[in-house]
Amino acid sequence: MPLPTSTLRTGAIASSGIQLQPELPVCQTDLPLDWYQSEFKPYAEEYLALPDRKPGTILPWLDGYALPALDHFGPALLLLAHFYMGGEIVKLVERYGGKVADSYALALQASRNPEKSIIVESAVHFMAETIATLASPEQQVYITNPKAGCTMEMLAKEHMVAPVVDQLLERYGDDLAVVAYMNTSGRIKAIAGRTGGAVCTSSNAHHVLARVLSERKRVLFVPDEHLGRNSALKLGIPLAQIRALPSPERWRSSFSLREIPGGPASLDDARVLLWGSYCGVHTIFKPAHVEYWRARGYRVLVHPESPHEVVALSDGSGSTDYLWKAIADAPSGSRLSIGTEGHFVRNAREQAALRGVEVVHLADIPDPTLSSRGCGCATMSRNDPPHLAGMLDLLRQGKAPSINRVLAGDVVDELSGARERLGDADRATLVVDARGALERMIEITEAAARA
Ligand code: SF4
Repeated sequence: MPLPTSTLRTGAIASSGIQLQPELPVCQTDLPLDWYQSEFKPYAEEYLALPDRKPGTILPWLDGYALPALDHFGPALLLLAHFYMGGEIVKLVERYGGKVADSYALALQASRNPEKSIIVESAVHFMAETIATLASPEQQVYITNPKAGCTMEMLAKEHMVAPVVDQLLERYGDDLAVVAYMNTSGRIKAIAGRTGGAVCTSSNAHHVLARVLSERKRVLFVPDEHLGRNSALKLGIPLAQIRALPSPERWRSSFSLREIPGGPASLDDARVLLWGSYCGVHTIFKPAHVEYWRARGYRVLVHPESPHEVVALSDGSGSTDYLWKAIADAPSGSRLSIGTEGHFVRNAREQAALRGVEVVHLADIPDPTLSSRGCGCATMSRNDPPHLAGMLDLLRQGKAPSINRVLAGDVVDELSGARERLGDADRATLVVDARGALERMIEITEAAARA
């Protein structure tokens, strides 16, 4: 279903290779009308009234809003989506010349494309905030649905993490640094910067951890317990020197280290302290899932947000980019079982089937005692076609709601949509600290690639 070539633009991120086929249903569940901001309801009403969810139906409707916006903004507009978005948004964003990538590549898009002054992101809020943190003052970043949060990040809010970091700094001083996974707010990334740590992604976490541990005696890894443990073990750090803090759901509101079993002194032998958050999408995987597919001749690849016993049994583990490339490079006749987010696997399965490669979701097992049905990232999927249509049309009209504009330091309540925004001076300080931690990650990653 081609667009006029004048509408298409290319960028440094390669095409995902996902193809739109007129009869292929797009399988995103419709959101209830009352989930939409008032400005987006007219677009949602039109979308919900469409007779089906096939590209042949959706595209003419969406073109009516997207093409005028593309013409209006010209090369100043950049559309972005994450690989975990439902297949329809991934496909639609690429159709309009946008880019689909993992969180590392998305984070770089503002700074690598200074001519893009309007950046519209269809993914979770922390990703848009990271782009905004690295953007210039001339670049405006928008998220199509500001209530698209990340459940892992929701268990690592500033009011939870900051008191624990303060207590650890009091105990260990400059011996401690914070490594913040990309799935954190700008406020947590700023803490990483202030303590001499860095940001990391699932593709570079072991490199970042190794560098920071070469400079400091211990690291607090925030927020994903599983990625932190998998990365530390990959570096050869013994389990006895890795200590997980309780899940934030189990702390009382004080976040006092006196609450943890053994008290603060019990942490003294640990080199890597793990914040106790996790991704509900990646912690459904079990060793029995790996064994099931392995016994049937499948190669098993998983994301490192999965529990360590799953990663240890699998044939390989890595970021979304690693998984996508492994599937794309698999020769015809290959059979792969993939342990990650459900929309990603569905998109990959559709594309791989065209090349004679079979892809299954690791937890999608026809055995009721084992099956967990591969689930998608429900919060990310709150960015649906009506949100994309509405965002582009409202921007073109100069009526973009303020709540959709993303600035560094913003905190959005994922249920109510209420936003807390820093004043200019505090935001400027946060940007310096968070940007320092992000730039440190980029420097470490590029050095590792050269080595
Ligand atoms: S898949 Fe998990 S970690 Fe990734 S954005 Fe969704 S909730 Fe967050």
